[in-house]
Amino acid sequence: METLSKSELERFKEFITEKYNTLLEELRYREESSIMENQRETGSELSSYANHPAEAASDYANLTMNLNLAERDSKYLVQLEDALDRIEKGTYGICTVCKKLIPMVRLEAVPTTTKCVECKNEAKKREQHEEAKHNAQQ
Ligand SMILES: [Zn+2]
Repeated sequence: METLSKSELERFKEFITEKYNTLLEELRYREESSIMENQRETGSELSSYANHPAEAASDYANLTMNLNLAERDSKYLVQLEDALDRIEKGTYGICTVCKKLIPMVRLEAVPTTTKCVECKNEAKKREQHEEAKHNAQQ
């Protein structure tokens, strides 16, 4: 089975570690500022929400948006961890479906990918097909 060379793996390790650390720092920073925000909120009058339902609603929308962002980011963090793990094992850059090497350009664009473009498209097509079948049954 063809694999990436040691120097190529090293290069991706550096690249992904950097992405990982940046994201981690950003998440930490966001967490800290939301804790500070909460502390500020606790000091304010509790009844203020009841007087401004519109404000409470927009706060809720903000909160949901932040949670979605955090969820997306933490998923990406896991994917980056996963990629680093695959680098350690030496399986990084190999398509999990057809076991062929994923082209460099694709890895550089999407460093967390586990499939080559063909297999990814194939999986997507199958998904859409399943969905169409499911819709037709309804
Ligand atoms: Zn493939």
